[in-house]
Amino acid sequence: MKNLMDQLHLCTGCRSCENACIKGAITMEKNEEGFLYPHIDEEKCGNCGLCLTVCPVETPVQQYQPLQAYAAIHKDKTVLLDSSSGGVFTALAEMVLKQGGLVVGCMLDTNFYAKQILLSKREDLSKCRGSKYVQSDTADTFVKVKQQLENGRMVLYTGTPCQIAGLKTYLGQEYENLLTADFICHGVPSPELFRQNILWLEKKKGNKIIHYRFRNKIGSYQLGLYYYYYFVRSKKAVGGSAALDPYYASFLQAKTYRPCCYQCTYAQEKRISDFTFADFWSVEKFHPEINSDIGASILLLNTNKSLSYLPEIEQSMLLYPSKLEWMKQINENLNHPANYPPCRTDIYQTIQTMGYEAWANQYCSSMFWKLRYLYGKLPLALRIKVKKAQKKEHHFSDSKPKREL
Ligand SMILES: Cc1cc2nc3c(=O)[nH]c(=O)nc-3n(C[C@H](O)[C@H](O)[C@H](O)COP(=O)(O)OP(=O)(O)OC[C@H]3O[C@@H](n4cnc5c(N)ncnc54)[C@H](O)[C@@H]3O)c2cc1C
Repeated sequence: MKNLMDQLHLCTGCRSCENACIKGAITMEKNEEGFLYPHIDEEKCGNCGLCLTVCPVETPVQQYQPLQAYAAIHKDKTVLLDSSSGGVFTALAEMVLKQGGLVVGCMLDTNFYAKQILLSKREDLSKCRGSKYVQSDTADTFVKVKQQLENGRMVLYTGTPCQIAGLKTYLGQEYENLLTADFICHGVPSPELFRQNILWLEKKKGNKIIHYRFRNKIGSYQLGLYYYYYFVRSKKAVGGSAALDPYYASFLQAKTYRPCCYQCTYAQEKRISDFTFADFWSVEKFHPEINSDIGASILLLNTNKSLSYLPEIEQSMLLYPSKLEWMKQINENLNHPANYPPCRTDIYQTIQTMGYEAWANQYCSSMFWKLRYLYGKLPLALRIKVKKAQKKEHHFSDSKPKREL
């Protein structure tokens, strides 16, 4: 008989099989890279095949050609500043909360473990705002969402396309009161790698990190650079360029994703959810009428259901009709999944054999020499400017991170 384990290399770790198994024969276990995979207890397994029916790899979910495309910017500047791009997540979530519904999104817990949670209050939305560039755990959200849907409550589930696919196969039927929103996704690194990165940063700084953000809009956001910052016990904020952070840079270069991400069937223009949102980088190139230097999102309406919410979305967002072709030019994951880089296996193996610190230090020293080389190529006037900028004092405060370049 066909087994769930036959296609394990394509498993996205959505937990649909574990949640559906009536015998409790499936548990999710971390592999050596720190990704969750199903493990079947053969003694408990009744060979009913339900795990295959609810597996999105085995039972593909319908994908929709987007019906309308927009550049979208939240009207509330506070929300916009707190969101990764244009604040589409908040606009959709507020719309559902107003109707007494529930929202599912991703938060980092106190151990920096990314997980999907259910929210019912507007003031909790900030927990899920902001991209967490690590695989998030769907935990028990599929089970809870099903209960709520059957009780007639409206639910908005936001997540990676593969999480939405898992939810849909787990539910096994359409629910009028379910709205889904995915984002265009390059891929997800392992939660264990991120945990190791936090430990490495803490050791390097000699202090405890209590808050971490992958994106903020201070400094060079307009130039399209990423920054992280974190608070240490003394409440100081430190910001840094993603290019100089081993974890973050490897993420951006697609070097550390879950194996299935490189064969992702959702990395294409046909979408799996009612809504799709993403970064609208270079928005000014396609929409000269837009004058926002603090972020704009891509918003795709993929189903008739999503179209019916347009008037409500327009109440909280500025929407500019746009084109899918333009979005495909700036977002490769609307065309195909990330390419598998030969160094991916080496990275995880090096970390397993030598430890995270050794790998991270190796990365930092090679970056240092690359930057030294590039610095040497700059014209003298620019080199003097860089030196001056380095000497400039930066102020610490709770909201403004100090740059760590
Ligand atoms: C792993 C990952 C890869 C991405 N890849 C791309 C890409 O290739 N191109 C692109 O244009 N945009 C990508 N994005 C989306 C982008 O980073 C922003 O999330 C998007 O622009 C939404 O911005 P916003 O202002 O509407 O949302 P925000 O207010 O910032 O809300 C973030 C939303 O993302 C969800 N979320 C955050 N982290 C995770 C996670 N780890 N797993 C599941 N859900 C999560 C939250 O629940 C919330 O729904 C990616 C995001 C993630 C998390």
